[in-house]
Amino acid sequence: MEDFLVPYFHSMQALTFGGIESIIYGAAPDPKILEPNDAIVQISLSGICGSDLHVYHGREAGLDKGTVMGHEFTGTVMETGAKVKKFHKGSRVLSPFTTSCGECFYCRIGLTCRCEKGNLFGWMQSGHGLHGAQAQFIRVPMADSTLIALSSDLNEEKGLLLGDIFSTGYFCAENAGAKPGGTSVVIGCGPVGLMTIIAAKHLGAENLYAIDYQDERLQMAKEFGASPLNPSIIDVKAVIRDATTGRGADAIMEVVGSSEALRLAIDLLRPGGIISSVGVHTENKFSFSPGEAYDKNLIYKIGRCPAHYYAEKLLREEIIQRYPAEKIITHHFQLNDGARAYEVFDKKLDNCIKAVLHP
Ligand SMILES: [Zn+2]
Ligand SMILES: [Zn+2]
Repeated sequence: MEDFLVPYFHSMQALTFGGIESIIYGAAPDPKILEPNDAIVQISLSGICGSDLHVYHGREAGLDKGTVMGHEFTGTVMETGAKVKKFHKGSRVLSPFTTSCGECFYCRIGLTCRCEKGNLFGWMQSGHGLHGAQAQFIRVPMADSTLIALSSDLNEEKGLLLGDIFSTGYFCAENAGAKPGGTSVVIGCGPVGLMTIIAAKHLGAENLYAIDYQDERLQMAKEFGASPLNPSIIDVKAVIRDATTGRGADAIMEVVGSSEALRLAIDLLRPGGIISSVGVHTENKFSFSPGEAYDKNLIYKIGRCPAHYYAEKLLREEIIQRYPAEKIITHHFQLNDGARAYEVFDKKLDNCIKAVLHP
């Protein structure tokens, strides 16, 4: 008889937002087909992303308690609405971190992250939005134009990285105009910074420096082809000055998303150079003035990566296939150990770079 006390709609397991620095493992409502273009995907792998930490620490106001966390995943389609054509039960898929319609102005110009109908996974406010991927199942609206087929020759890890951080790294390097010749700098060697290094090298960057305070991250930056610089032991401004006969770097890829990182970026940049920012900025002021920007003839590109556009491109051009990007995944956790996974990832315990969850 006790079974009747358990609400029948709470049946899958998930990590939900329980308030600041509280991640709860437990039952959550099973996702259901609500619209004819929805699909339900059974998650095979989900990631914890740096931007999940903004939510975790309460830097983003107003996320509903009970929201299923996470926006990086791969999985298998379990059920489709009547209008879904490209995918069927059993299709192996990866997903960008936002949904996109494929038809609006922004989707047509490749800015899929600003789709007029798009939503971010793992983002529920006042009852609106989408639940996330750190769960056993997820509802994916506009499935045909959101999901991307994950071919059998691509592993889950590469698929997961493609849906967010590998695409974001490539977008950052491309926006920075990475190409042979010149001197460029990546500020921040977390997961996105390391992906940015791979992408910048792929695009031909030669004198590429990477800045971080953590030696393990710098070691991986070096493996991926950058010259590591730790500001706690070396004067990075002097190194870049010396490397460029006093001019400053041609391009800075800023992936941290802090005013300090942006300040360092402008200090390291030569006049006429490019700053490309993909770190999630939530400040309400720039750490450089319009006057400094004018005097530097600054070219500044910033914003969220249109991951659907880039994931398709990087698959089609067989770019993700060529690089061991998944080396950054240092930690694997079971979903029921999710609270611990957040703590390890957040505090960089045990030299954690990237953590993934297995449902
Ligand atoms: Zn992310
Ligand atoms: Zn759209």
